[in-house]
Amino acid sequence: MRLLVASNNAKKLGELERILAAAGINGVELVPLSAVADYDEPVENGRTFADNALIKARAGARETGLVTVADDSGLAVEELGGMPGVLSARWSGGHGDDAANNALLLAQMSDVPDERRAAAFVSVCALVTPDGQEHVSEGRWEGRLLRKEVGDNGFGYDPLFLPGEEIDGAGRSSAQLSAAEKDALSHRGKALTGLVEVIRGLAG
Ligand code: IMP
Repeated sequence: MRLLVASNNAKKLGELERILAAAGINGVELVPLSAVADYDEPVENGRTFADNALIKARAGARETGLVTVADDSGLAVEELGGMPGVLSARWSGGHGDDAANNALLLAQMSDVPDERRAAAFVSVCALVTPDGQEHVSEGRWEGRLLRKEVGDNGFGYDPLFLPGEEIDGAGRSSAQLSAAEKDALSHRGKALTGLVEVIRGLAG
């Protein structure tokens, strides 16, 4: 079976490849967006991560005729009612300006005491088949917001996120974890893992 991974981020395809291999699933060829004919990517105007993941996966299945997986992710801060949420990439206005997003979030949370700084990275993966089957899987990585940026690895809000469960209990931010350490804990891996049995069934 050919499975379209409707993401411009090659790392997501690699992560799904490793998860399928670990589950002993053979016979699935993962296809990146770059390998299919260009199509207009849909506007991500959903109110939830699941809405946006489904918007992207439905577009891929409709435009290519392939079973399609897509994901949407972000940071949900309890004190802010779950925001930045689907607006994570553009919280400060410009799309993907990590430094400005982090500065704004720190300022908004500056007077919030430690016991009310719970936050979670959330990823929702959607799988849609050309004949209209839809599956959704959510992965969460619970933690707390720090009071200043710590660490140079990762991207986005990683320097502000203190994972609740950590490998050696050293209190490192997610920007201080190696890529492998983060993969083992993170929201994205959990969400993708939730689709493994669906993919196994489709692959026959
Ligand atoms: P995307 O769904 O991968 O495009 O991510 C949307 C936004 O959520 C990113 O621009 C980041 O701001 C934030 N985000 C998602 N996952 C992570 C993560 O693992 N670390 C840090 N920020 C993340």
